[in-house]
Amino acid sequence: MTNQLKITPAAAIPKHLTGEVQSKLAYVDEAILRARVAADGIMLELREPVEGPRRSELEEKVQRVVSMMVQGAFRSKAQVLEDFSSRPVPFSADPNTELLARGEMFQEASGIYTLGPLMTRLIAFFDGQFTELADSFGATSYRFPTLIPARYLERVNYFRAFPHSLTFVTHLREDLDTIDDFSQHAACDEHGLNTPPDSFSKTQTLLSPAVCYHLYFSLADKPLPGGGLVATAVGNCFRYESINLASLERMWNFTMREVIFVGLKDFVLQNRETGRERMRGFFEKIGLAYRVESANDPFFIGEFKKQAAFQSAFQLKFEIRARLPFKNSTLAVGSYNYHQDFFGRSLNITLPDGSPAHTGCIAFGLERMAFAFLAQYGLDEARWPEGMRKGVVSGG
Ligand code: ATP
Ligand code: ZN
Ligand code: MG
Repeated sequence: MTNQLKITPAAAIPKHLTGEVQSKLAYVDEAILRARVAADGIMLELREPVEGPRRSELEEKVQRVVSMMVQGAFRSKAQVLEDFSSRPVPFSADPNTELLARGEMFQEASGIYTLGPLMTRLIAFFDGQFTELADSFGATSYRFPTLIPARYLERVNYFRAFPHSLTFVTHLREDLDTIDDFSQHAACDEHGLNTPPDSFSKTQTLLSPAVCYHLYFSLADKPLPGGGLVATAVGNCFRYESINLASLERMWNFTMREVIFVGLKDFVLQNRETGRERMRGFFEKIGLAYRVESANDPFFIGEFKKQAAFQSAFQLKFEIRARLPFKNSTLAVGSYNYHQDFFGRSLNITLPDGSPAHTGCIAFGLERMAFAFLAQYGLDEARWPEGMRKGVVSGG
């Protein structure tokens, strides 16, 4: 018996969708340890061999994902707005080895990391630069909570669009026996806490998956003051990425800095464009090899085909994809997003003429930004571009 399972997809998976399908296979069955979509089929590595009806069930679920994501999907051409991906960079090794060895990265659990002094300085530097971008728009600073109410996520259709990556928050029920029982018997094994599920309260709260939502919630059900707003905030974000979790490239708990625009359509679109131009100068200064290209959000299977096509067709999302020389691939370190009047409509945020407000945001993943820079320039500061050496003040 083998832990490998090869499945020939009933519908051919076009090349541009292999990544999307592969990442969704993580959520198909708990038995799946690794999934790879290749030209000759889908290769699954399983936690234990599966046979008989279990195997048919697994195969059926995989085929269902493929058919829901690819059948009738139309390919919109990827649009490249900037291409500096062949900018020469001096480093091509895997930075993970040295980050781990130097204690710059310590894994508490899958997707959860403590970062050391160099990473901390780098992230502070990048956040400072992104804050300067926000300042260039005269943005107002906000602080948002890490928790997010289920009620609000429901209002913005989050459960339908991204159910797979949600992280739920609970607490023990207000019940003396339950709390006593927990305090006496709570223990962890390799699967987690041994607590009976009925000890926990119903879920009213989750961990926040993004920053800008909190601003929209605070503006809900009223006219937008002044008719237009630019805001900025940094915050912890949580996305459960299952077996796709990988080093600082894909974390469960990461940090995002956003610059957020709310107002008329042209105000949002023009600011998004101006923001992109300003960032181009910054990326040149730090010598980043990257390109900016159209993208879509990682919608779950049921919503994927329709929503991804919609986003591409209307150019709603562009990603800043930094080169990772050590694996000959790219990583999104940020995105330029336009939501049309989706949040304005869902949350009833109105413009002076009564129409729903448009929104957009520029979002940077701080850990990814630092990681991508190190993947291109290494940990030896002497080899960094001058703009970086000067900016990242030596820590003690
Ligand atoms: P990806 O395509 O890599 O899954 P995304 O399209 O979901 O990313 P956005 O929703 O645009 O990402 O989020 C803005 C930024 O936040 C990303 O460009 C990235 O830098 C960062 N980010 C998103 N998910 C993660 C994660 N799981 N771990 C670390 N950073 C992340
Ligand atoms: Zn946002
Ligand atoms: Mg993406």
